[in-house]
Amino acid sequence: MHRFFHAVVVGGGPAGLSAAIVLRREGLEVALIEKHSDPLDKACGEGIMPSGLALLAELGVTERIGKLGYPIKGISYTAGNTQAVADFLEGPGLGLRRPVLIKALCEVASDLGVTFYREDWLPAFPFTGEVRLRTADIRTNLLIAADGLHSRIRRLAGLQLAGRTHHRWGIRQHFRTDHVSDYVQVILGENCEAYITPVARNEAGQAILWNSKKISPAGGDDSYDSLRDYLPESLLRGDTTSSIRAVGPLEQRTSDVITDGCVLIGDAAGYVDAITGEGISLAVEQAFALRCLVPVLHQAKEPVPRAALARYSADYRRITFNYKISTRALLFLSERFWLARWIVLLLSRRTRLFQALLSFNMGRLRLRDLLSAFFQ
Ligand SMILES: Cc1cc2nc3c(=O)[nH]c(=O)nc-3n(C[C@H](O)[C@H](O)[C@H](O)COP(=O)(O)OP(=O)(O)OC[C@H]3O[C@@H](n4cnc5c(N)ncnc54)[C@H](O)[C@@H]3O)c2cc1C
Repeated sequence: MHRFFHAVVVGGGPAGLSAAIVLRREGLEVALIEKHSDPLDKACGEGIMPSGLALLAELGVTERIGKLGYPIKGISYTAGNTQAVADFLEGPGLGLRRPVLIKALCEVASDLGVTFYREDWLPAFPFTGEVRLRTADIRTNLLIAADGLHSRIRRLAGLQLAGRTHHRWGIRQHFRTDHVSDYVQVILGENCEAYITPVARNEAGQAILWNSKKISPAGGDDSYDSLRDYLPESLLRGDTTSSIRAVGPLEQRTSDVITDGCVLIGDAAGYVDAITGEGISLAVEQAFALRCLVPVLHQAKEPVPRAALARYSADYRRITFNYKISTRALLFLSERFWLARWIVLLLSRRTRLFQALLSFNMGRLRLRDLLSAFFQ
């Protein structure tokens, strides 16, 4: 006997859990399959931008988080001895340990009646609607692939594009510190950058992103120390509060985010780089975009054909448009330290322009308005 769900989500990260919550709140029956039983502590800078925080509040997640985490006023960039600082115009963001965020999202989803299955599961394509788990036989008309950066579902669905322009990796560790900043501190080096994000009054995460073709190709624990050689002395060191986590390559290209009976969401839908710290916010925004499929899902008698999913694909492109522009621009700078240094000097003198860039990156400012801020 099959159990029917309007949608089955694979992957319980920020994207999958948000999608499950959004669709469940629309009155749909939703199941979520996640292979880990405990909240996953993966490599992440853990800075939630104000735009993402507002959406998490709308999902009822910030209530569960309570006073955990550390408010972030804005961003500071340091290149050599030049520093530019800007506050977010949209209010504070939040530095938050990932397991805390995942736990809060799981609690909200559970309370709403999302059904969880703790399994590692992969579909076959073309997708027939059958989901055979060890513990249950399910039918669904929509598979939501939220299985992360190296999504296997993206490959199986034939949506992965080969090749990449940027060969970047990320690594992170947490440190105890008496001097947490109210800002995410970005420290630029040649072909790498460090991101220090406060996550508690006395704790900060330090992520390093680097070009694996130019420096240190490995992604093992020893990379963390060797990468410090490319960055200033001021990086956090000493009393650690987490183990090292690394991931790469970061860039993942897709031909589309929809196919018959299946949509991709979050990192599974494709990724350029973590350089702007937007991933969680974009994942939650994409989850909200799935609302456009609710009428289709209420009526569907079989896996939803690709054509009926086109609206989500268009929304996905709109949501990620600004992020892709700013990320590619920053990647260009990350390979040209002399130019990055000049830009940081410019931004240190033009705080409003810096703020406009941050708003643009969050999708809160149009390209046209950013350009006019530049010429003001
Ligand atoms: C170094 C680094 C720094 C970053 N810094 C920031 C930052 O400061 N701010 C920010 O917003 N973003 C940041 N990001 C990006 C952010 O981490 C991601 O965009 C975000 O986690 C994407 O969420 P997701 O749900 O798509 O994927 P994930 O969080 O990766 O979740 C995928 C889930 O799917 C599960 N899964 C996978 N396969 C299966 C399967 N077959 N069956 C069942 N379950 C499965 C996994 O266990 C996992 O729980 C950073 C990324 C990196 C690499």
